Amino acid sequence: MMNYDWDSKTILIAEDEENNYIFIEAILESTKAKLLWAKTGVDAIKQFEQNDDICLILMDMKMPDMDGIEATKKIREISQSIPIIAQTAYALSEDRSKCINAGCNDYMTKPISHKLLLSTIDKYLASSEMLASS
Ligand SMILES: [Mg+2]
Repeated sequence: MMNYDWDSKTILIAEDEENNYIFIEAILESTKAKLLWAKTGVDAIKQFEQNDDICLILMDMKMPDMDGIEATKKIREISQSIPIIAQTAYALSEDRSKCINAGCNDYMTKPISHKLLLSTIDKYLASSEMLASS
């Protein structure tokens, strides 16, 4: 497996279920990324507004008070460039297009594969770095 070094990166995890957050945290531990945890859609927007360091958002689609679709739309009003990766329990194609139409860059179905999570995050961190340096 590839070793990723995201020591200087901050990733916002929007996820209402603690077990799912712990699962993601365990996968990302070896990358040394700094993780922020938002438990609702409203909390995700708030944390994004308060932290300039956030490089990427993992967005659960099903959360209390505001779902991931609405939270993504609101965050897109603040930033067009922040990579947002949807995570959803549903594997239906209309859900994928709903996520992409809301402004998500990519989409993953739960249970999330260890390898896919790392490679997808890497892809978007690398492309945002290229934008920042160009
Ligand atoms: Mg959820």
